Amino acid sequence: METSQLTQAILFESDTKEWRTVHVPLPDPQRDEILVRVLACTICGSDLHSVSGRRSVPSPIILGHEIVGEIVAFGPTSSRQTIDGQALQEGDRIVWALVANCGLCFYCNNGLPQKCENSFKYGHAKFESPRHLAGGFAEHCLLVSGTKCVKVPADLPLEIACPIGCSMATAAAAIEFACSNEKGNALVLGGGLVGLMVCAMLKSRGVTNIVCVEPNESRRELALRFGATTAASQLDSATVKQLTKSRGFDCAIECSGNNAAFELGFQHVRTGGNLVLVGSVFPGPGVPVVLDQIVRRNISIFGVHNYRPDHLVQAAEFATTAGRLIDPSLIVSQWFTLDELPTAIHSAVDAMALRVGIRAK
Ligand SMILES: [Zn+2]
Ligand SMILES: [Zn+2]
Repeated sequence: METSQLTQAILFESDTKEWRTVHVPLPDPQRDEILVRVLACTICGSDLHSVSGRRSVPSPIILGHEIVGEIVAFGPTSSRQTIDGQALQEGDRIVWALVANCGLCFYCNNGLPQKCENSFKYGHAKFESPRHLAGGFAEHCLLVSGTKCVKVPADLPLEIACPIGCSMATAAAAIEFACSNEKGNALVLGGGLVGLMVCAMLKSRGVTNIVCVEPNESRRELALRFGATTAASQLDSATVKQLTKSRGFDCAIECSGNNAAFELGFQHVRTGGNLVLVGSVFPGPGVPVVLDQIVRRNISIFGVHNYRPDHLVQAAEFATTAGRLIDPSLIVSQWFTLDELPTAIHSAVDAMALRVGIRAK
């Protein structure tokens, strides 16, 4: 590789809200790093929150974490295997976990590698040497030590591949805690991409009754296309009785971050059911919870933030099987080039579409 070669990245300055194009030398991967060419990166809701200031991020930063890349070069000691044991070589198309973890700390050893004490999060780190190429809105990304990746087939549409490392893997993590009875019934609260992926993955696992509650009509239509069996703007007790043989839902998965949705899930999960919270990722007002209801109805409440590497494997498996059947244009309505990122961000804010994305030329 020529050391003089430059690569382009778009920086976001969170204090001035300005975008800045930079060209930096293309790094030679060191130790177990892997250099990847970014093929596509979709704009996630959390990128939009970073731009709006709702979420604080270091500055300057390369945003973007829903990335699909192609391996350009391996560091001298980097693993040439995916987490599910497939061999890797230059030119392979990969998706990697949002959080790189050390494998040594307390959380890594206690089932929560996504909360690693030495974690590194793509699309969330300050643009600074030596890990400056750490986001998706750039021509290249440098994968650091501890990054877990999976291979995706070259013929898998980028629209299906981009969400693997964010909403699909998060949905897989949520589902782990959701339904022990796979033939049962599930309540999905919120029809954003995580909620829709939960619907699609529950369907692929044989859950027969999947009810999605979502206020927006076009999102409800999408929920039905992704796998929900019923989509409603609200739920009343009579409908729940009819849908669940009067028992309530085996599980409720809250993907919207809305307190009223939590209350709905809490109300309608059955005795012994599981309530899984995924959507509430920002500080907000509390909700009243009547504690005896948790106790006397034997309700289990789980919080799920990000995901483990095995959820990424499940997401990739889903994407290449049942996920492949999703119409790609439902996920990404419009692609832009890297130079057009500020326009793409505007479009993502305006669009009712789930995602717009940046694709390599
Ligand atoms: Zn995301
Ligand atoms: Zn760790």
